[in-house]
Amino acid sequence: MTDAPDPVVNDTRPTAPLHEVDDVRGPVSGFVVPRFAGIATFARLPMITDVDTAHVAVVGVPFDTGTTYRPGARFGPSAIRQASRLLRPFNPHTGTFPFADHQVVDAGDIACTPFSADQAVGEIEVGMRELLTRAEVPIILGGDHTVALPVLRCLREHAGEPVAVVHFDAHLDTWDTYFGAAYTHGTPFRRAVEEGLLQRGRCVHVGVRGPLYGIEDLGDDSDLGFRIMSTPFVARIGAQETAEAVLATVGDAPVYVSIDIDVLDPAFAPGTGTPEPGGLLSRELLAVLRSLRGIRLVGADVVEVSPAYDSSEVTALAAANVAYDLMSLLAEVRAGPAYPH
Ligand code: MN
Ligand code: MN
Repeated sequence: MTDAPDPVVNDTRPTAPLHEVDDVRGPVSGFVVPRFAGIATFARLPMITDVDTAHVAVVGVPFDTGTTYRPGARFGPSAIRQASRLLRPFNPHTGTFPFADHQVVDAGDIACTPFSADQAVGEIEVGMRELLTRAEVPIILGGDHTVALPVLRCLREHAGEPVAVVHFDAHLDTWDTYFGAAYTHGTPFRRAVEEGLLQRGRCVHVGVRGPLYGIEDLGDDSDLGFRIMSTPFVARIGAQETAEAVLATVGDAPVYVSIDIDVLDPAFAPGTGTPEPGGLLSRELLAVLRSLRGIRLVGADVVEVSPAYDSSEVTALAAANVAYDLMSLLAEVRAGPAYPH
């Protein structure tokens, strides 16, 4: 054997024809390097250290010390990155090239201690504040839902005003404490309201369902300034009208979209910490997200993917596609919806 070709598994040549902006570096082309090869950055995008500037940064927060039931979301970022290999550069549902209009990168993971939630929340805040000096819009891969609090602290500061939250979740996550702990995955949005990070009355939970501790949970949640669009509500009015109701609620506020993957039915997302039957279809969630065009998105997360409970990567695949459609909201519409409606 002679003249063997050089191995190309670490080839970082971009998908050139898709990039009209000269200095944007896209994902490794699936026509040059098979999608199952090479190191798994999100969607095979460049690392933040490979580019001069970035607009959108995917960042992992492998933290699950705030979980109340099944742990394991610390492995969420790596599972979502692995599943995201399958993504392609053109989103025909929205007519967008989410990686082509501006620089999108993978910023790696924010390191934080697994031994103290209080300490980790501080470390995540420091990591996020540092990231926001290098990128404008963070897309966080969790991690459990605790991570939303330190991110919201930074985004409130970055936006210069409190933010609206569009929270997709089976659960309210506005409880007070668990076993005396203030920082858990069931409490981030109460803490955020207490800290003045949110625009009360412009926040909404989408996809809530399942049993509560008591009827007062709903009154407490309403007092904190959240509107509830339950799973039965979304199923009844449909994705398009749900999105319109969300857009009407947030208005022109800067918006953080927080997606707990357990908003999906356990049939579509078994790999999560606190599954609740009777949830949204992946199709419904993606359809709502695609209809949020015009939203003033300043950051987003996809949390609570716990790969040890997953089957055939379905939860991680759903999470990767959710992140992709969030990124698509930040991209220009270049074509009409390509699939027949
Ligand atoms: Mn949840
Ligand atoms: Mn949650």
